[in-house]
Amino acid sequence: MAETAYILCPDKIVLLPDINAGCPMANMITAEKLREKKKEVPAATVVCYINSTAEVKADSDICCTSANAVKVVESLNAQEILFVPDQYLGHYVSTKTSKKMLLWPGFCPTHVRIQPEHIIRLREEYPQAKVVVHPECRPEVIALADEVLSTGGMCRYARRSEVKEMIVGTEIGIIHRLKKENPDKKFIPVSEQAICPNMKLITLEKV
Ligand code: SF4
Repeated sequence: MAETAYILCPDKIVLLPDINAGCPMANMITAEKLREKKKEVPAATVVCYINSTAEVKADSDICCTSANAVKVVESLNAQEILFVPDQYLGHYVSTKTSKKMLLWPGFCPTHVRIQPEHIIRLREEYPQAKVVVHPECRPEVIALADEVLSTGGMCRYARRSEVKEMIVGTEIGIIHRLKKENPDKKFIPVSEQAICPNMKLITLEKV
């Protein structure tokens, strides 16, 4: 993301508090492997999730976020899409479009720890709560959700909706922000194990 910030704002100084705080999912594809794949599927348009390296972005046709992935894919004239690197976000998009989606087999190690059983158990415990999950989750988790939203979308949903209790399926750090912005509402993490060790390398001291 620091690379992306610098690409978008080349006139600014972008500092990364810990050089090791990369994204394991982004590292599941290299520009070289992408170029090889493109030779196999020359007709495909490459849509690259923003959680990717600058090199991979440079070899892609267009970049998307989890918030606009469906819109970006739908906006393209191409009928065949090679979606990299997150197979689960790509799969979610495939359920919203008629385009042929070829999915790179990458995944977020944090979001795949969220299991359907977690949601089933919490729904019993909090029957009034809405289940909101990130599209990086597995399809069987997404199938159980009331809403599938990006992290920004989750924050807006929490602020604007009348919902008083929300079961949240994404990296656990968002719970702090949700509670801070909505002190009168209850936020329950789907899984206490949904912790990204790479994100946690950024500490207050390092900042
Ligand atoms: S939670 Fe961690 S591994 Fe998953 S996409 Fe974010 S930075 Fe990458």
